[in-house]
Amino acid sequence: MKKDRFVFFDNINTTFPDPMVVEVVDKVLTSRLGNPSSHVHSAGINAGRIIDEARESVSALINAPAESIVFTSGATESNNLAITGFLKANPGYQLAVSMIEHFSIINQFRLLQKEGIPAFLIDIEKNGSIDLNSLEEIVQKKQTLVSISYANPEIGTIQDLKSISEICSRHEGILHCDCTAAAGLLGIDVAGMGIDLLTLSAHNMYGPTGVGALYVDKKINISPLFAGGNQEDGKRPGTENIPGIAGMGVACRMVREDIGIWQKHLTALGKKLWQGLADSISFIHLTGHSEKRLPGHVSFWVEHVEGESLLLLLNMNGVMASSGSACSSNLKGKDESELVASHVLTAVGVPTDICAGSITFSLGKYNTEEEVDYVVSIMPGIVEELLAMSPSYEDYKKGKESFHG
Ligand code: PMP
Repeated sequence: MKKDRFVFFDNINTTFPDPMVVEVVDKVLTSRLGNPSSHVHSAGINAGRIIDEARESVSALINAPAESIVFTSGATESNNLAITGFLKANPGYQLAVSMIEHFSIINQFRLLQKEGIPAFLIDIEKNGSIDLNSLEEIVQKKQTLVSISYANPEIGTIQDLKSISEICSRHEGILHCDCTAAAGLLGIDVAGMGIDLLTLSAHNMYGPTGVGALYVDKKINISPLFAGGNQEDGKRPGTENIPGIAGMGVACRMVREDIGIWQKHLTALGKKLWQGLADSISFIHLTGHSEKRLPGHVSFWVEHVEGESLLLLLNMNGVMASSGSACSSNLKGKDESELVASHVLTAVGVPTDICAGSITFSLGKYNTEEEVDYVVSIMPGIVEELLAMSPSYEDYKKGKESFHG
């Protein structure tokens, strides 16, 4: 790796904890706190207070009452508690999830389907938006738990949650929304948006890893995923991760205070980055929606260029990003073992003959314009280098048609 460069454009997968979060986590770890379930002594009571304070902060971020927040170990657990926990407590519901959900949802979908729950995939448009007709067709048949993420981490598309929730409520459906990718970047209001269950993850918004939350509307019953004590109102047994929860509380407070500044900064950087790439690289294609996308999210593929190889060369130049992997399998009708990360790209219809994987640059609050300029300056050379080694580009040069969609 280039020693003088550390350009982290992979904030969609994790963000570095803010120094204020680190300070609080450290303070909590060294504060001689008891178990929050030990209400009979001050060390336990003090631990409980820290959790209460964090719960207030997390709930304020999404305009929800504090008692509707359940702390978990992260987004994967929250998604499982939302879907499996709901279906366990509410037999008779069918399940519908979009084709581009995270594997913590897609793989639950497959498991539950095998267990006999009627489960349906909602179609996606080419720009990554939910096909509202497909959604309505499914939810009008029977009471449905619908799970749709607010924004997709791989292609950045933001969903029209208002229309989605209107369709759900018209047919008495329940809406779970995975806000892992969106929470640090977009405003959320569960009441205004008509969301019943909502997933949050701390490490995607400058908080610590290993902690997340599930919002559960007061009218919803869910069953815990495992047997244990009565923590988190009986919905999530096990002694709470107090330092993590405290850190998440601080992270949510910072999002509330600073989101407007971050949105402006990241939108400007994202635009500059995409413009620079589009101007200097031939046969480059943006994935996802051209406007309704996460601030600072630039995802694309380049004809005949392998995403994984591009990532490797970027890393050698000190730039860290993520890849949408090869486009090889179709989600519908395939079995679980064949579900590879390309399901998102496949769902949005990238042409599998000339797309060999996509790249996602996801910027965060610490990134700078100078870093964007640097990435724009090195990308054309890297693409040239990979094209020179690409067999499919060789074929194309020998006379095959190119895709210019
Ligand atoms: N949902 C989405 C949209 C994600 O991007 C991720 C991964 N960051 C998850 C859920 C799972 O998150 P975690 O691995 O932190 O549990």
